[in-house]
Amino acid sequence: MPEQPSEQAVGRIRTFVERYCEKSGTATHPVAGVTEAVILGLAKNVDELGRPLCPCRFYPDKKEEIKHRTWICACDDMQIYKYCHCLLFVTKEGLPITEYLPEDHEGRSIHGLIKDPTPDKGRPLKAKWQEREKERQARPS
Ligand code: SF4
Repeated sequence: MPEQPSEQAVGRIRTFVERYCEKSGTATHPVAGVTEAVILGLAKNVDELGRPLCPCRFYPDKKEEIKHRTWICACDDMQIYKYCHCLLFVTKEGLPITEYLPEDHEGRSIHGLIKDPTPDKGRPLKAKWQEREKERQARPS
């Protein structure tokens, strides 16, 4: 059985997820197991690396990756485009918001266009989309 994260880390992530849903106008996935798997993955990374590195991506070197803030939850894609590719922060129906993504972003190809039901909330870093696009092309981790 894979090693479980500490209760402390799990508690920290649960509180964060609850608050971030409220702040961003998103919901957790209606299938509880989806949310739970991501929460445990984030908590494991908190235990291992001291940071909530996104658990749904592959990194050649996790320690190297946390020197960037790109994939520290809530990641740049969430804070700029309100898109969570782990399906942790979604619409009430469990769909990832793709409305603000660049058209060539993988989220658009996978899910199509999904509108933001709460456009007045979230995207605190939306002004940084150009920087994010440069990085997405240069460092596709
Ligand atoms: S995709 Fe972003 S917001 Fe979603 S769980 Fe991963 S780091 Fe967090």
